[in-house]
Amino acid sequence: MDGRQPMVPAMNTENAIHIIGGGLAGSEAAWQLASRGVPVILYEMRPVRGTDAHKTEGLAELVCSNSFRSDDASTNAVGLLHAEMRKLGSLIMRAADANQVPAGGALAVDRDAFSQTVTQALEAHPLIAIRREEVVGLPPEEWGRTIIATGPLTSPTLAEAVRRVTGERQLAFFDAIAPIVHAETIDMEIAWYQSRYDKVGPGGNGADYINCPMNRDQYEAFVEALLSSEKTDFKAWEGTPYFDGCLPIEIMAERGRETLRHGPMKPVGLTNPRDPTVKSYAIVQLRQDNALGTLYNIVGFQTKLKYAEQAKVLRMIPGLQNAEFARLGGLHRNTYLNSPSLLDETLQLKAMPRLRFAGQITGCEGYVESAAIGLAVGQFTASEYSGNPLRPFPTTTALGALINHITGGHIETIDAGPPSFQPMNVNFGLFPPVTFDKNNLDGKRLKGPEKSAARKRALTSRAAVDLDTWVREQQAGI
Ligand SMILES: Cc1cc2nc3c(=O)[nH]c(=O)nc-3n(C[C@H](O)[C@H](O)[C@H](O)COP(=O)(O)OP(=O)(O)OC[C@H]3O[C@@H](n4cnc5c(N)ncnc54)[C@H](O)[C@@H]3O)c2cc1C
Repeated sequence: MDGRQPMVPAMNTENAIHIIGGGLAGSEAAWQLASRGVPVILYEMRPVRGTDAHKTEGLAELVCSNSFRSDDASTNAVGLLHAEMRKLGSLIMRAADANQVPAGGALAVDRDAFSQTVTQALEAHPLIAIRREEVVGLPPEEWGRTIIATGPLTSPTLAEAVRRVTGERQLAFFDAIAPIVHAETIDMEIAWYQSRYDKVGPGGNGADYINCPMNRDQYEAFVEALLSSEKTDFKAWEGTPYFDGCLPIEIMAERGRETLRHGPMKPVGLTNPRDPTVKSYAIVQLRQDNALGTLYNIVGFQTKLKYAEQAKVLRMIPGLQNAEFARLGGLHRNTYLNSPSLLDETLQLKAMPRLRFAGQITGCEGYVESAAIGLAVGQFTASEYSGNPLRPFPTTTALGALINHITGGHIETIDAGPPSFQPMNVNFGLFPPVTFDKNNLDGKRLKGPEKSAARKRALTSRAAVDLDTWVREQQAGI
C-alpha cells in the first residue's frame, strides 16, 4: 500500500436503474439493486428543494416520530414485517437496529444517526451515484427502467406529470380515511347484513353491507360525543381539503344535529331483522374492504378525531362495542396512486411498464411499510435486470400480504366521495385466514385475547415457514 486511496472503477451509468426519491423506499430500493450488482442513480431533491415536512438533507429522514413501532414478530404484523425485512437483507432495518434507543417493545431509533447510517452506506457503495436534483417531469424514455419513490410529498411538477399518465382521479393529493374494522370483532348478534333496498348491484348479492342500528338516544349521545371530542388540526401547509362527499363526520355534526342522519347514517331502505316493526333512528353501514372479507370500512366516516377518542366514540355504535380497528380514520396531505387498478403485482405501472412505484406513493402507510415496498421493488427490478424474474412474495407473509392489498386485494367501490382505496398500514386483516387450535392445553375453548393471540401466532408461524421456503426455492432457481 502506498497510502493513496484504492482506485474504485468509475461506475458505468449507461445501464443504471434510475430511482427518484431518497426517502425510506428509494434508499432501500437502491441498496437492494446495488447489492445485487446493479448500478443505480439515485435522485434526491433535498437540499436543492425541500418539502413541507423534511428538515435535513439526509437520506431516509424520519419526518415525524422516531418509532418503527412494535418489534414483536410473533403477535404483531409490523414486528413480523421487521423480521422479514431483516431476513431479506434490508438496509433500513440494519440501520434501525444499529441506532436503537430504549422504547420498550417498540423499535425506536436516534433519527439523525439512523439517517446518517443510511446515507453513508449508500454514498460509500461503488454502484450507487447520488444526484441532488429535483426530477421535474416524467423520467425521459432513455432512462429505461425507473423507480418513482417520491413519497407523500412528491414535488408538484412530478406529481402533475404522473397524474397526466394515470388519469385525473387516479392520483390523490389527500387521503380521507374512514376507519377500518376487523370483521370478526363486529357483534353480529346486533348488526345484520343487508344492502340498502336489498339492491343486488354489480357483484353484490343484496346483503353486502353490515348494518349497525341506533335508536334516538344512542344517536344523540353519539353526536354529542363527536362534537365534544378532541380533533387533530391540519398543519398550516396542509390546507383544509374538505370537499363535498368527503366531509369529516364531526364537521357534518357541527353543521346540524340531524345532518349525519340524512347523510352517512341514514336509516332508509334497511330493516333490522331482529326488530322489523321498529324503524331505526340512524344506521351505520360497513362495507367489505378486502377480497378476503376480513376487513370492513365504516362507510362515509372519514374523521379527524384524535385516535384515542376516535376508538372510544366509534365503540358507542351498537355492534361495534368490541370493535378492533385495522386502522383509524384520518385526513392528511398525501400523494398516492389508486394502485389496485394502476399497478401490477410487481408494482409496475400497467400503462407504462418502464416505471415502477415504491413507498408511500403506492398507498401503503408508514416508515416500515414504505421501506418494505422499496425492498420488494428493488428486488423485482434487480431480478428482471438479470433476466431471472422473481416470483411474487407469498401472500401469507407480511410483505406479500401488503403488496397483495396494494395491487389487488382491496375491493374498489365507486361512489360519490373520495376513492375507496386509502393508505393502509400492514395488519393481520390483510392475511389469508389460518386454521389454528382453538383449545388450550387443558382442552378448554380459547376466548377473547387468548384466542386472538393464538390466531396471530399461527399467522406469524405460517409466514416464517412460507418466507423460508420462498427464499430457498428462489436460491435454488425453482
Ligand atoms: C407529515 C408527515 C408525518 C408522518 N409521520 C409518520 C410517522 O410518525 N410514522 C410513520 O411510520 N410514518 C409517518 N408518515 C408516513 C410515511 O411513512 C413517511 O412519510 C415515509 O417517509 C414515506 O416513505 P417514502 O420513501 O415513500 O417517502 P419519503 O420518505 O418522503 O421520501 C421521498 C423522497 O423523495 C424526495 N422527492 C420528492 N419529489 C422529488 C422529485 N421530484 N425529485 C427528487 N426527489 C424528490 C423527497 O425529498 C423525499 O426525500 C408521515 C408522513 C407525513 C407527510
